[in-house]
Amino acid sequence: MYDAVIIGSGPAGLSAAINLKLHEKGFLWFGSRDYSDKVEKSEKIANYPGLGLIPGAELNTRFDAHAKEMGLEPVDKKVTNVMPADGYLMVLAENEVYETKTLLLATGVLTAKSYEGEDELLGRGVSYCATCDGFLYKGKTIAVFCGAPRYEHEVEYLAGIAEKVYLSAGYPNCGVDLPNVEKIAPVRAVQGGMKVAQIVLHDGTEIPVDGLFILRNAVAPGTLVPGLATDGPHIVVDRKQATNVPGVYAAGDCTGRPYQIAKAVGEGNVAAHEMLDYMAK
Ligand SMILES: Cc1cc2nc3c(=O)[nH]c(=O)nc-3n(C[C@H](O)[C@H](O)[C@H](O)COP(=O)(O)OP(=O)(O)OC[C@H]3O[C@@H](n4cnc5c(N)ncnc54)[C@H](O)[C@@H]3O)c2cc1C
Repeated sequence: MYDAVIIGSGPAGLSAAINLKLHEKGFLWFGSRDYSDKVEKSEKIANYPGLGLIPGAELNTRFDAHAKEMGLEPVDKKVTNVMPADGYLMVLAENEVYETKTLLLATGVLTAKSYEGEDELLGRGVSYCATCDGFLYKGKTIAVFCGAPRYEHEVEYLAGIAEKVYLSAGYPNCGVDLPNVEKIAPVRAVQGGMKVAQIVLHDGTEIPVDGLFILRNAVAPGTLVPGLATDGPHIVVDRKQATNVPGVYAAGDCTGRPYQIAKAVGEGNVAAHEMLDYMAK
């Protein structure tokens, strides 16, 4: 049983990880080894005290150096589900279940909108995890949304199992090129009854499929943690960064505007200290 699990390797998650490490807690930190895409993409950051005018890519490099100096490295796995249990939480990341006393959601804000039908058909043909559910589609026809180049190997993995893959990429020049993979225009909706039956593209084209894999960086918080109170794309927290689910805290862009690094770092710090209190109780 871990003391804590942190989901997210942006400024909020890093700030919490540093503080938990300073208190010598046993925790797992999930995210990307590239830390934060958003920080990386910031041309110049001028409002983080003490750093003057700094390119985002340089700040990201400094995050990496600071983490390494503290003996920290994010585990590069996507968390797809959190299940509250009796006094603890179970966290599912790519086929492995981890048990923890506390959890921090530092997942950033999900900019992409869900597909119509995605929430309703999740677990009934809609999946966020190729390695968890891919085996169910041996010899079948599936659609895949690939949100970033880092998921291309998962598309290739699925193409090795399914007979046919319809691939919608969320970025230009997707590198997947296999005989059973057909690239398609953006998906608008997924439809079905008890199971996924078809996807619908933005131009109205309907394609019959047995399943839809959605491989994007983030999962909507309400989908990740059942029963979590949300307000639009944001997680509702109190001044201790606590959510309505006991033991679950949230920090950074996922809790609301302004979307700023200083806010994310501050909330990550508050959350870590409150999680320490929660553990002590
Ligand atoms: C172009 C641009 C310019 C900006 N300029 C500024 C600026 O000048 N000043 C400023 O203060 N802010 C700026 N920002 C905003 C700033 O980058 C964000 O406020 C900050 O990165 C938020 O940090 P975060 O930790 O909340 O989330 P993020 O930085 O978004 O990090 C979230 C992390 O969580 C990971 N993650 C999400 N879901 C999962 C999951 N299910 N499993 C595992 N990992 C997961 C993601 O992969 C990501 O690594 C800018 C943003 C952009 C896009």
